[in-house]
Amino acid sequence: CAKEKGQNSFHYFSDELQTKAERRIQLESELRIALEQQQFEVYFQPKLDNAGEKIVGAEALVRWIHPERGIIAPGDFLDIAQECDLIFQIDDFVLQSACQTLNHWRKSFLSDTPFKMAVNLTTSQLLSDNFSQKLSRVLHQYRINPSDIELEIVENELMSNYDKAIKVIRGISNMGASIAIDDFGTGYSSLSYLKALPVQTLKIDRSFLQGVPSSEPDARLLKALIQLALTMNYYVVVEGVETKQQLEFCNNYGAHSLQGFFFSKPIDAEAFEQLYQNYLTSNTSALGSIACKS
Ligand code: C2E
Ligand code: MG
Ligand code: MG
Ligand code: MG
Repeated sequence: CAKEKGQNSFHYFSDELQTKAERRIQLESELRIALEQQQFEVYFQPKLDNAGEKIVGAEALVRWIHPERGIIAPGDFLDIAQECDLIFQIDDFVLQSACQTLNHWRKSFLSDTPFKMAVNLTTSQLLSDNFSQKLSRVLHQYRINPSDIELEIVENELMSNYDKAIKVIRGISNMGASIAIDDFGTGYSSLSYLKALPVQTLKIDRSFLQGVPSSEPDARLLKALIQLALTMNYYVVVEGVETKQQLEFCNNYGAHSLQGFFFSKPIDAEAFEQLYQNYLTSNTSALGSIACKS
């Protein structure tokens, strides 16, 4: 009967909750071990110019190399890391490691080619009291030109700490580093507030590429977003480019830089170096086909 069924589903529900809570606790302790044992690694995904021909930078993306479960993507652990405040240590590690890698690349194969390294940062980390000093220390340690670094921030929390955000972002801009608003279009920020932040780059979220160019309404929306960002004088990056048609679409409507599986998935530092060497020695338009194999 209905009542029994209801009770059963209640039991089922609470069992599920319990399992979820247990999994969360287990994950938290595994994350602590992972930090101690340095199980995190930074992968890099190339960013291309508007035509998808030149590599103009890379985005650093964290991976958890779990001893039993293999490579774990950030979507599976960053929420928990955020809840138990471990995200700060993870972000510190990624910033440090990305700068160390860039220092190595500059000395080995990049030399003084324009190249920007983008690092994702949790908003609470950006707004924490000592972040600017921390950034300047790391840049100094690895002799990184501040203009080679871009911090990618998701817009939501910025708006609820607006006054603080303006100050911190201004400080970072003055230092010479740039800030990008990541996943643009998915948050709820007011454009008039956004406009007042000293932010140079908008990264249009990859969800807006779905259906492009075959679906008219999807294509119109992406076109409008790119045009909006251009009108506001932003440097416009579109992420999630998976096909040649999408590349051409974004290029036609004026996006400055493109990122996506069409060019390459995020890969480890060694593979990135290889990718870059191939790109230097081969016809640049071959990049897509080289990268897609990885
Ligand atoms: P994000 O910063 O928006 O990074 C882009 C994500 O989209 C990456 O997922 C990337 O692998 C994926 N992606 C790129 N091109 C394509 C494409 O063509 N198709 C598809 N389907 N996906 C594509 P990933 O590496 O799993 O990272 C997920 C999110 O985790 C990132 O989104 C970022 O918000 C966060 N994250 C990653 N690393 C860090 C970090 O070191 N610190 C912080 N705070 N967050 C990070
Ligand atoms: Mg990002
Ligand atoms: Mg994004
Ligand atoms: Mg994202």
